[in-house]
Formats: sequence, C-alpha cells, structure tokens
Amino acid sequence: MSNELKTIHEFDFTLICNYFKGLKRQGPGSPEVTQKALSFTNELSDNARIADIGCGTGGQTMALANYTKGQITGIDLFPDFIEIFNRNAIEAHCEDRVKGIVGSMDALPFQEEELDLIWSEGAIYNIGFERGMNEWNKFLKKNGFIAVTEASWFTPERPSEIDDFWMANYPEIDTIPRKIAQMEKAGYIPTAHFILPENCWTEHFYAPQFPVQEAFLKEYAGNEAAADLIAGQRHEESLYNKYKEYYGYVFYIGQKR
Ligand code: SAM
Repeated sequence: MSNELKTIHEFDFTLICNYFKGLKRQGPGSPEVTQKALSFTNELSDNARIADIGCGTGGQTMALANYTKGQITGIDLFPDFIEIFNRNAIEAHCEDRVKGIVGSMDALPFQEEELDLIWSEGAIYNIGFERGMNEWNKFLKKNGFIAVTEASWFTPERPSEIDDFWMANYPEIDTIPRKIAQMEKAGYIPTAHFILPENCWTEHFYAPQFPVQEAFLKEYAGNEAAADLIAGQRHEESLYNKYKEYYGYVFYIGQKR
C-alpha cells in the first residue's frame, strides 16, 4: 500500500514539474516588482552573497542578477527546475555569478552569517512564513536583508468560499499586520512591504499558462491526474479573479537586527 502511494505521489510530482517547467515563472511576480523590492535593500558589492530560495527555473533570479552585484545561489527542491535555471543563467550571460543548486529550504547549505541578502518569491509557504523567517535568520549577516513574497489577506474578514479554500491549502495565510509582527519577532526590522499589482498574477502568471495547459492536456490525453491538475489551476485562477480584493501576494522586506 505504501509503495503504491509512493508511486502515485511520485507520478503527481513529475506531472506538476512537467507542467510548471514549461513556464517562465512558477508563481506570481514580475521583473518590475523584483526591482522595486530590491530598492528597499542596501546596495551590494561584487563580493556580496545572495540566496534565492525556492528559485524554480529562475524567472525572478535573472531579473535580480540584472539589478544587483554579487554571487547569487538559486536553490530548489526540483532537479529539473535547477537544470533549466542553469541553462537560463547561461542564456542571460550571468552564469559566472548565478548558480542553481538542488536542495531544500529546511536544510540550507549555507554558513551562519554568510549571506547579505535572502530572496524568496512565492516559495516560503513550503516551509511556512514564520518558520522560514525564524530559521533563515541565522544565515544572514547582521544588517543583511530578507525579501519574500507571501500570500496575505487584505481585509480582516472575507467570503467563506475563499476563506475555506485557503484554510484547506495554506492555513498560515494571514493579514499584513500579523505577518509583519511575525517578521519583527523573528529578528528583523520590517523596512518595507507592498502588495503585488494584479498584472503579476494575470499577465505574468496566468496568461502564459493558457497555451501550456492546452499542450499539456493533449500530451496527457486520457490521464485523470493531468486533467485534475489543470482543473485545479483553472479553479485557482477563477477564485483569484472573483476574490482578488480580499487577498494577494505581498512583498515583505526586512533587515536583520
Ligand atoms: N520563485 C519561483 C517563482 O516565483 O517563479 C518559484 C515559485 S513556485 C510557486 C515554488 C517553488 O518552491 C517551486 O520551484 C518548488 O520546487 C520550490 N520548493 C518547494 N518545496 C521546496 C523546498 N523544500 N526547498 C526548496 N524549494 C522548494
């Protein structure tokens, strides 16, 4: 039974990976918001060490490389994403200072106080915002910066359909003041936060998925798990369109005290 479950799980894992690796980004965001978030951190030197945690195929990492100096290590759990990441770094002519490695955000391969900047777009939820803020703190130098995006509520109350969806999928979603308080408690000065504009979802995340979904459904015709995956993505998108005034991604930027 457990072997059978493992096989099913591994298959789903491969499916999800195959779906998302055809996309430039695996989560909402844009080069403009990456640049804006960076503007709230200190300027870095060529010797600076930066980590992009849960980097995916590196959509935001290559933008980050354009706007900052220093060595960037992208880290992601999926080897296929890292392979594409390293190809993208070569195409962007920044492979001498941008390297992707396979690893997990709950066992990061960095030394204490090694990093000047920790970046993580749409990925900290995998470990949980509060846990990530706490556990990653030790890898930053004093006065180093952290910048992450995290799903957040914009209102103290919301319709039950969207509340239930998030409680089932990521119960750690919370209001902006509560997220900022968690950040402060974890040892950072919350220097800035801003809500990602709608085009980070519509133009940069959902629109590129249309052609990929069509191709994916053709490739996996008759495969129930693949059909479920696409139905799930389309459901998420319809919920976003219906309830975007209640939630979204927020960039949280903090400086280690
Ligand atoms: N940062 C990318 C972006 O914004 O396009 C990817 C965001 S995607 C929503 C979340 C990423 O977290 C995926 O690439 C996934 O493989 C990665 N991930 C999931 N669990 C992880 C873990 N334990 N350690 C490192 N990366 C992980």
